[in-house]
Amino acid sequence: MAGLKALWSCRPRKQTLSREPELVSIAGLNIKWLKSPRRIRSLALKVDKQGQIVVMTPAATRLREVERFIIPRQAWISRQIAQHQQLETQKQQAKGQSLWFMGEQLTVDKLIGAKNLIEPGPGLIKVITRQPQDKNQLDRRLTRWLREQAGAVLPSRLEKLSQKTGLTGSGLQIKSYTARWGSCRHDGLIQLNWKLIKTPPEVIDYVIVHELCHLSHFNHSPAFWEHVIRYCPEFKTHRKWLKENGRLLISA
Ligand SMILES: [Zn+2]
Repeated sequence: MAGLKALWSCRPRKQTLSREPELVSIAGLNIKWLKSPRRIRSLALKVDKQGQIVVMTPAATRLREVERFIIPRQAWISRQIAQHQQLETQKQQAKGQSLWFMGEQLTVDKLIGAKNLIEPGPGLIKVITRQPQDKNQLDRRLTRWLREQAGAVLPSRLEKLSQKTGLTGSGLQIKSYTARWGSCRHDGLIQLNWKLIKTPPEVIDYVIVHELCHLSHFNHSPAFWEHVIRYCPEFKTHRKWLKENGRLLISA
């Protein structure tokens, strides 16, 4: 057994003093419990930058002691969390509203003026408005503007890609969907979601190529994907982009 003893004594000291935080629930609060490897004597409590409650204790502290420490401090914790949330809201408001357009997130820059005007620029979309306080009105105007852009961009991309692929549908309808980007009907009508205007140009092209290829393959068979890849070799990247970002863009 001498060998085993030697093995034990070889253990680095750090392993007995865990640095890994533990998540515990006390009085309905989720608390990150950090056992300090340093020789601190008392328990300490804070709400960190992420709004997480953190309790730091000496390494040998038991859960019961943490509970005894937390329970009388619940009101303080609630106040700290409320303050944190208020700060986050303020930060969010300072950051302002943003808008996705052709794959870029543009900051909405509201300016008070006599005429109503929307003007996109690099990283920013200028909105001149008479009523800067009326958020609903502003949202409606921005949505209308996006739909107008979609009404100009989508038909012209469809035409270009029809020429490129030699596939022509019976027409185009721009629709508003919350769960799909486009579709191809049996009669050859291509339907595209106006919200595509929020996505990068190459993603728009992928969706259009996808729908056009359904004109010759009315399924998602390997032959269909071979057809897609011929005109859109990077389609997997664009499909992945939609998977990762699409839900946010399609829901609003
Ligand atoms: Zn499809």
